[in-house]
Amino acid sequence: MDQQKIETGVRLILEGIGEDLNREGLLETPARIARMYEEICGGMGEDAKEHLQKTFTVTDGGMVIERDITFYSLCEHHMLPFFGKAHIAYIPDGKVVGLSKLARTVDVFARRLQIQEQMTAQIADAIMEYLKPKGVMVVLEAEHMCMTMRGIKKPGSMTQTVALRGAFVDNVDLQRQFYETNR
Ligand code: ZN
Repeated sequence: MDQQKIETGVRLILEGIGEDLNREGLLETPARIARMYEEICGGMGEDAKEHLQKTFTVTDGGMVIERDITFYSLCEHHMLPFFGKAHIAYIPDGKVVGLSKLARTVDVFARRLQIQEQMTAQIADAIMEYLKPKGVMVVLEAEHMCMTMRGIKKPGSMTQTVALRGAFVDNVDLQRQFYETNR
């Protein structure tokens, strides 16, 4: 990541909104924001494969459900946060991953500029590609700051997105199983 460019950009924004760049409280702001982007957009330099290729063999292929994985992302239209919970279910085909690896996979795709629908699909596709389960279902529920602090200003409104792959596609029973154990 080019920290110098981020700092230059932040200075331009500060000037653009009419701020005084030499004001004490702002002196460190461009450098601080540049360091912050290293972290909150750090998923760009990561590959979900790293987290999903360490698998364990299982004989019983019951549905695995990991709920309430907290994530923070940035919408690519406003560069404002959207954040909430990810819920993931998959049906193993002989292989499972450690539950923390699903959370790390969510972070790989959350820590970059995103669209919620796309992030949902990317998580599902990565799990299909590297873990190769019989099917996967990913549900994201998130609040978008670009909808709550600006624009239509609807605090607390949640956007839900769903991605279905493999056995979950067109299988209402499996989807219901996920939702029922979700409550
Ligand atoms: Zn937005």
